[in-house]
Amino acid sequence: MAVPLLDVNAQNQPLEAELNAAFQRVLGHGRFILGPEVASFEESVGKMLGAKHAIGVSSGTDALLLAFMTIDLGPGDEVICPAFTFFATAGTIARTGATPVFADVCPICFNLDIADARRKITSKTKAIVPVHLFGQSADMDAINALAEEHDLRVIEDGAQAIGATYRGKACGTMSDFGCYSFFPSKNLGGFGDGGLVVTNDDELADRANILKVHGGRPKYYHHLVGGNFRFDTLQAALLEVKLAHYDGYTEKRQANAEYYTERLRSLPGVAIADPAHCRCAADQAAWLEESGASIILPTAYEHNEHIWNQYTLRVIGEGRREALRAHLTERGIGCEIYYPVTMDQQPCFQSLPKSSRQGCEVAHRLADEVLSIPVYPELTDAQKDEVIAAIVEFFA
Ligand SMILES: *Cc1c(COP(=O)(O)O)cnc(C)c1O
Repeated sequence: MAVPLLDVNAQNQPLEAELNAAFQRVLGHGRFILGPEVASFEESVGKMLGAKHAIGVSSGTDALLLAFMTIDLGPGDEVICPAFTFFATAGTIARTGATPVFADVCPICFNLDIADARRKITSKTKAIVPVHLFGQSADMDAINALAEEHDLRVIEDGAQAIGATYRGKACGTMSDFGCYSFFPSKNLGGFGDGGLVVTNDDELADRANILKVHGGRPKYYHHLVGGNFRFDTLQAALLEVKLAHYDGYTEKRQANAEYYTERLRSLPGVAIADPAHCRCAADQAAWLEESGASIILPTAYEHNEHIWNQYTLRVIGEGRREALRAHLTERGIGCEIYYPVTMDQQPCFQSLPKSSRQGCEVAHRLADEVLSIPVYPELTDAQKDEVIAAIVEFFA
């Protein structure tokens, strides 16, 4: 039995009648640009997140770009973001003319290493961009405290974490802006590209809404240079259908993650990442050696509700990750490396000053060790058992 990394049809096909009805409704009224479904979806998703303003946009990438344009990032500014993330986090910073400065990450939760972020603050630093990677929140209290100390903006990249929480607060709502993606492989997966920004600040929301439509207000009168970052009516109508089912999807992802962890953790050579070692690379190395683990399972902090966009293993030992990947692929089990190349090592960033590309050793190590396995909501027990059996076979 094949186990794909993701099966969008398994999630969308049971909603076929509802989705068709939503499509028919939009087809009927014909208001394809900023039609009534956009405002309705924004209201629903804003309510779910507990955010005062929710603004639909054209993609997760554009959500970040719009947030950065709204806080007026530009040449001469430095922005700290993790080295271990999807490219859009860093690419959008660079597109404003600002300089991305890459901080190392935590080997336990994969998120921003706050001590390293602190070391990389200069007089030019304007913002910090934590990423809630794989569906788990970064340490927002520590990040906000650091930002306050140095008078920095904070923009959360919550593309993989819509609905995840940190000490009961939704990821994306604890800073100036939260940015999300509805790319089909994200937890709230749309039917093409789409994204969202949220903020609790009235002025920032107003400015973002103007920049979203070329900076014109009223129409054809431009005090700002914006872009076309609009969210499609059709996308909003279809996503509203899925939003009603969203809690159920999250519960199933959480159950799948628990299923893997409970069955794998007691096997020889398997350790579970220990939160006590969070953000401390030295301790982590010692712990790893002591544990003698050849595979490390991901963990969720007690104060975080993890929504498991990815269930990401660390496979220890030279060449072992590639070998496990080949082994799973051979058996028809989907797996992927998120991410094989860190931001500080991307060819397009080699022209950045050396000071923005140093000290990311944990990120480099993770890029060599990580492997994500299927965790999407519709996985059956038989499929999960097959993934587990293949991993057991590999280490036998
Ligand atoms: C997917 C993703 C984005 C970009 O979202 P798109 O909708 O694909 O443009 C940004 N940041 C992170 C961390 C992501 O995973």
